[in-house]
Amino acid sequence: MSVETTAPKRHRVVIIGSGFGGLFAAQHLKRADVDITLIAKTTHHLFQPLLYQVATGILSVGEIAPATRIILRKQKNAEVLLGDVVAIDLTKKTVTSKLMDWERVTPFDSLIVAAGAQQSYFGNDHFEAFAPGMKTVDDALELRGRILGAFEAAEVTVSPAERERRLTFVVVGAGPTGVEVVGQIAELADRTLTGAFRTIDPAKARVILIEAAPAVLPPMGPKLGLKAQRRLEKMGVEVKLNTMVTDVDYMGLTVKEKDGEDFGEEYRIECAVKVWSAGVQASPLGKLVAEQSDGTEVDRAGRVVVEPDLTVKGHPNVFVIGDMMSVPNVPGMAQGAIQGAVYATKQIKSELKGADPANRQPFKYFNKGSMSTISRFSAVCQIGKLEFGGFFAWLAWLGLHLYYLVGGRNRLMAVISWFVTFLGRGRGQLAITERWVFARRALEQSKEQSAQKSIG
Ligand SMILES: Cc1cc2nc3c(=O)[nH]c(=O)nc-3n(C[C@H](O)[C@H](O)[C@H](O)COP(=O)(O)OP(=O)(O)OC[C@H]3O[C@@H](n4cnc5c(N)ncnc54)[C@H](O)[C@@H]3O)c2cc1C
Repeated sequence: MSVETTAPKRHRVVIIGSGFGGLFAAQHLKRADVDITLIAKTTHHLFQPLLYQVATGILSVGEIAPATRIILRKQKNAEVLLGDVVAIDLTKKTVTSKLMDWERVTPFDSLIVAAGAQQSYFGNDHFEAFAPGMKTVDDALELRGRILGAFEAAEVTVSPAERERRLTFVVVGAGPTGVEVVGQIAELADRTLTGAFRTIDPAKARVILIEAAPAVLPPMGPKLGLKAQRRLEKMGVEVKLNTMVTDVDYMGLTVKEKDGEDFGEEYRIECAVKVWSAGVQASPLGKLVAEQSDGTEVDRAGRVVVEPDLTVKGHPNVFVIGDMMSVPNVPGMAQGAIQGAVYATKQIKSELKGADPANRQPFKYFNKGSMSTISRFSAVCQIGKLEFGGFFAWLAWLGLHLYYLVGGRNRLMAVISWFVTFLGRGRGQLAITERWVFARRALEQSKEQSAQKSIG
């Protein structure tokens, strides 16, 4: 069934995505004389930088994923639609989204595409079932189930080899996400779970960080990378640099290490929990838009090589922002998405007042720096040429994350949770359910069943 919406009188802005790019774009058009339709396939705005704290039992889902509809409730010029965008027609100026069997076609005058990025397995998509990434709420809850479930299984098994496998945790990729999640798995094992089991000692868990590059946190430079590595090693994390993952299966991983210029022999790491944080691939909507433009291309990571005004060639009304855009020296970080949203909405507002799109100033990114936590009271921080680590960097991290969390209640709850976890040992979100742990299998089975039905 297809429903064509009736054309409203005002300038229509369609925004795809409710992440940093999409939500900030909608909010920056609050006072503009436009009708906004924000379409996203999730009902929430997700604060991805704190997903790892959901996965390791510190924060609850609601604290980092407030409902978009509620955030925008008072913004009368905005409507929120749940749906998976399956088609964009730049000639007809329509976006088609699907929710279950319903299809909705939404016309636009201006379009802001902010559908973000997904985990990339560099062509080895079969790794995903065994080594999920951390991009969505589902990912974080599944990982929480796998991490805590591994301790439970280790307590029950009588096989020493299986116990060792269950108590081995591997994180692939030593970027900020990898460093943060590996640090929290180590602290969970070492502090929170102490004394909670009878046959195993969680503190004896083996926690490994694997990175193909020769350094931890490669984009933050050698000084901070080394600082982070030393801190992790002090916590008992095994850091394996220059190491490539060649295969992932249910039982563990196969890796090979670089020895000078060459790689050595492959070897196995038997482990139950594998977390993938090694690369990203932009939403396929980028390619869809680029193919309809007058020659805009996508890069190897699927990001749209946008024009200096963040649009695609031949369509000055179509902006691609956030993790989907490829702009030199703009990293795939929240700031890039927010600044892209502010820029795009500024152009729309100026042009409503009669400005000529041909006279747009190019997008300029202001680098506010980057940071990564390692453990409680320890982070690394880079602001311009200033690089520092330790407690003050951790305080800076704390303040910044609180500032960008949406909603006063969420900020308060996060502060309480951090007090409990970082000053004490407790974590308030250690619940796991069978459905979270086995949801992936159930989904696969249901897909197989419906595929068989359609063949039959
Ligand atoms: C685990 C993790 C930790 C991070 N840590 C940091 C950090 O510490 N600091 C930092 O600055 N950045 C960090 N980032 C990066 C930052 O979160 C992203 O750069 C930012 O979220 C990009 O915003 P975006 O709006 O482009 O995309 P996203 O925030 O990913 O939002 C994409 C939106 O598009 C929707 N969508 C996708 N496809 C469709 C479709 N087909 N139809 C409809 N809707 C769709 C999604 O539901 C979502 O609402 C982290 C990212 C991750 C995953």
